[in-house]
Amino acid sequence: MKPSLSDFLPLREEIVAVARRAYDSGLMAGTSGNLSRFEPDSGCMAITPSGLDYTVMTPEDVVVMALDGTVIDGARKPSSEWKMHAEIYRHLPETRAIVHTHSPSATAYAVLRKEIPCVLVEMLLFLKGSIEVADYAAQGSAAVGTNCLPILSRKPACLLANHGVVTTGSTLEQAYINSIYVEDAANIVRLAMSTGCTIPAIIDEEGSKPYYE
Ligand code: 13P
Ligand code: ZN
Repeated sequence: MKPSLSDFLPLREEIVAVARRAYDSGLMAGTSGNLSRFEPDSGCMAITPSGLDYTVMTPEDVVVMALDGTVIDGARKPSSEWKMHAEIYRHLPETRAIVHTHSPSATAYAVLRKEIPCVLVEMLLFLKGSIEVADYAAQGSAAVGTNCLPILSRKPACLLANHGVVTTGSTLEQAYINSIYVEDAANIVRLAMSTGCTIPAIIDEEGSKPYYE
């Protein structure tokens, strides 16, 4: 029997609620970015539709699909980055949620292809250290996801070269909070460096050492 809207309603509502929070937090300019949640029992992911204004998005607009691209339910086109999401779920089985943003300060590091150094204690706690840059891949290709795997298998956030940010989580809330921490870290490093009088010190298990020499 074909699934109906009500079968996936809580999942769809969750996607819309978190997408709206991400938009309101300034992480998504225009219709950029996308997010998803994976349910291993059904093998389906729920993902934001492509190119739709976040302020008018409703649960009905969310697309439910299998990882091979088969649309299970939903009338809209899925995000153009559905292959990236599918690739990450396929290879990182602990991952249940993905948030992709073009948040401005973090994306500035992405276009410079410079990692955001680990300078804050919450980066150690939430992001497992620095925010590294995944190799460039064309928008919409599975390679966007494949290129993230070496980083996302170790930590829940990375930058996409010349593109934006991807964060993961065991819940959508967690992936969203991680995307906030990525942007916050980028802003703080940017502000610290704009003083022109100090070099941020990175923190890691070994202690602190200077970063950009
Ligand atoms: P979609 O609107 O198709 O999800 O695309 C936004 C985006 O960020 C592409 O990388
Ligand atoms: Zn994007």
